[in-house]
Amino acid sequence: MAEHESHEFDVVVVGAGGAGLRAAIEASAQGARTALVCKSLLGKAHTVMAEGGIAAALGNVYPDDDWRVHFRDTLRGGKLLNNWRMVQIQAQEAPDRVLELEEWGALFDRTEDGRILQRDFGGHRYARLAHVGDRTGLEMIRTLQHHAVHKGIDVFMECTITCLLKDDERIAGAFGYWRESGRFLLFNAPAVVLATGGIGKAYKITSNSWEYTGDGHALALWAGADLIDMECVQFHPTGMVWPPSVRGILVTEGVRGDGGVLRNADGDRFMFGYIPQMFRAETADTEEEADRWYTDKQNARRTPDLLPRDEVARAINTETKEGRGSPHGGVYLDIANRRDAEYIKRRLPSMYHQFLQLADVDITREAMEVGPTCHYMMGGVRVDAETQASTVPGLFAAGEVAGGAHGANRLGGNSLSDLLVFGRRAGLHAAEYARGLTARPTVDPGQIDELARHALRPFDAAGSENPYAIQQDLQECMHALVGIIRTEDELAKALEELAMLQDRASRVRVEGHRQYNPGWHLALDLGPLLAVSECITRAALERRESRGAQTRDDYPTTDPELAKINVVVRQQTGELSTALETRPPLPDDLAKLLEDA
Ligand SMILES: Cc1cc2nc3c(=O)[nH]c(=O)nc-3n(C[C@H](O)[C@H](O)[C@H](O)COP(=O)(O)OP(=O)(O)OC[C@H]3O[C@@H](n4cnc5c(N)ncnc54)[C@H](O)[C@@H]3O)c2cc1C
Repeated sequence: MAEHESHEFDVVVVGAGGAGLRAAIEASAQGARTALVCKSLLGKAHTVMAEGGIAAALGNVYPDDDWRVHFRDTLRGGKLLNNWRMVQIQAQEAPDRVLELEEWGALFDRTEDGRILQRDFGGHRYARLAHVGDRTGLEMIRTLQHHAVHKGIDVFMECTITCLLKDDERIAGAFGYWRESGRFLLFNAPAVVLATGGIGKAYKITSNSWEYTGDGHALALWAGADLIDMECVQFHPTGMVWPPSVRGILVTEGVRGDGGVLRNADGDRFMFGYIPQMFRAETADTEEEADRWYTDKQNARRTPDLLPRDEVARAINTETKEGRGSPHGGVYLDIANRRDAEYIKRRLPSMYHQFLQLADVDITREAMEVGPTCHYMMGGVRVDAETQASTVPGLFAAGEVAGGAHGANRLGGNSLSDLLVFGRRAGLHAAEYARGLTARPTVDPGQIDELARHALRPFDAAGSENPYAIQQDLQECMHALVGIIRTEDELAKALEELAMLQDRASRVRVEGHRQYNPGWHLALDLGPLLAVSECITRAALERRESRGAQTRDDYPTTDPELAKINVVVRQQTGELSTALETRPPLPDDLAKLLEDA
């Protein structure tokens, strides 16, 4: 058998962001022998980069807020494609998870009377994001990490999982390699929780870091699990556009929540021209009223600068395409003329330093140039709302890698509460599943040999393709043909290009040896990147309408019938297939919450 080290656990959690840490804490608390595996250093997941806050209807700033309003906002923001039960669970449990974080030591910004302060974000009826300036993710990860370390959970960092192992139909473990030494390792475990985050590195302009190559999505697909809503890729409206080296880096929605407004090159607040019917009643249609909302939030209608992300991203796209963009192809985000310097530096310290250091722009004096950036994956592993179990026994998923909670468009702040709520549930149910087994599954040694051979193939002298060139071409293809606005012709062309890229990837070659070799790591990441790109493209072809993040130029309207349908992607006999499947209808009591709105 290929040389490798071997470990025995009850639950292996792949990914150490908010979802993975929360899952591992819960599994360990249930008495399961738990491993936490992550590709980078512990503490350096996407969650640490989260800026704006955690959405939870605590009702601290607006007493009228409660889970019902949060439920309604999330479903409307997701353009009704969400798994309604997940939305209900998240809205109901998020406040407890935030308070639990506080008990574990998180220090949030406070209201004057000492409660957790909450900030405004797009699509939320009330200010409901618990935050720490614009560095909320750092506080969340710090707190969870301390808690996990005190629980004595075994951590394997700088370790990439490349394949899940099965014994017949059920999960038997996971296989991967140490990034530093290149040596292989095997986890024997009956339950695996995927918490691997997003897919942003499939696109040219993204807020995501190098780690987000869709590994968990691909691991689940290859293990036979269903993926849903893969067509729904969120482009955040405000990423940096200049200088080119920082293009895509996120500019938090908190800038608009705290008073910033969007303007085009003519100085117009163009968002007034893009208010969709669904949000008209509660959105201001004059500048005076929108500005009044910043001071009189109880009574005035909300500013259109804070419409849900899909609406704002599309509007910016139109402004720049029609020639009203800024010099570097974005629009202006202006807080300098609306808030004093002391306020900006206190509320948005990271944004202030980010622009000063990376773009030589002082945001207390000048407007920022911003444009859409690939940010978040709504689609992912199909899970049971109560348990986070996938369609493969023993496989669970939570956080960004799981699909369903956010429908066709995620509201800002809803990811962080999703991680806490569903991370806990995934850990709990994975531990229960492992405890309930009468016999542990076993791993086939032949499979280990095959996986090791496959992983080492890029060192084969017969190959000729450079992994960096393939990734760059993939990012160009996805950006140009499967981006914010899509058409059947372009999607079909993308599939042809992806097939060619797959072929090139089968001939990839890397130099050097297995010890810390980033070229080899990328060569292995190409597998997931290409797999998720194909899933996104096929699902986008199947959804013949425009809904949330899926905008089809050839099907520009929303088809009410398709709100009930998920596009499911699966790979069960080697071939990728798609199916349109109907979801259970919204129960009357929950439907009424929407109607009342
Ligand atoms: C700049 C930025 C700001 C954001 N701000 C907010 C915000 O204010 N509010 C909000 O709600 N959301 C925000 N988001 C979104 C949110 O941060 C993410 O959706 C969320 O953190 C994802 O958490 P996660 O636990 O699912 O995964 P992540 O935090 O992305 O962690 C993924 C983990 O999986 C590991 N991993 C991946 N592949 C493998 C593999 N093959 N083997 C082993 N380990 C692997 C990684 O190393 C990492 O540890 C922001 C995102 C970004 C990029």
